[in-house]
Amino acid sequence: MKPIVIAIDGHSSTGKSTVAKKLAKELEYKFVDTGAMYRAVTLFAMRNNWLQKGEVDEQKLIENLPSVTINFEYNLQSGSNDVILNGENVEQEIRAMEVSENVSSVARIDEVRTKLVQIQKQLGEEKGVVMDGRDIGSVVFPEAELKIFMTASADIRAQRRYKELKEKGEKISFEDVLKNVKHRDDIDTNRKNSPLIQADDAIKIDNSNMSQEEQFEKILNLAKESIEA
Ligand code: C5P
Repeated sequence: MKPIVIAIDGHSSTGKSTVAKKLAKELEYKFVDTGAMYRAVTLFAMRNNWLQKGEVDEQKLIENLPSVTINFEYNLQSGSNDVILNGENVEQEIRAMEVSENVSSVARIDEVRTKLVQIQKQLGEEKGVVMDGRDIGSVVFPEAELKIFMTASADIRAQRRYKELKEKGEKISFEDVLKNVKHRDDIDTNRKNSPLIQADDAIKIDNSNMSQEEQFEKILNLAKESIEA
């Protein structure tokens, strides 16, 4: 059966990565979480003090981009890929709220996007990949055989994210999480370079009232149809 590219785009905290990861496992495809790559570059900037309260020292970051390497490494324990920044496993650190607060400001920098999109294209060039992000179906793989656009109300997304962060022990209020979700939507949708949009041929799934199993079944069926087409 021919391998295909499956692009899963959509708003923050819609569960894209969860469903993409499960789908990749089921199809024995590669899984690429492109948000993790933008988060890793954000962490790089934060560690160098080029990022404070959403203000990025763009020049410094751009100058130093050539020294950033990003890879993925399979983690046997979690059964998923961890992101590796310059040889260091930063999977846990990139999920912190502070990174979420700054990532959209880094992701709108052209040079950052050019670098990461190039890596993403390489990772998917042999197909047989499920890639999740914001611009996969519109920019990275406009020819992807299956494009999904996931969304849900901001309130529901914030509730899910809040629960996740609480379980990890982060001291955070629901209001702050909701603010972050809305803020990221705003920057991601309104940036000039590769804004978050639903590609014309993407299938929209609003999962506000869907269980994880329901969405998985739906997307798996769509994937099977595309693979067999
Ligand atoms: O998917 P996740 O929420 O981890 O993504 C973090 C951020 O990275 C997004 O809010 C967005 O600003 C950026 N991003 C992007 N393009 C992608 C993936 C993520 O701009 N393909």
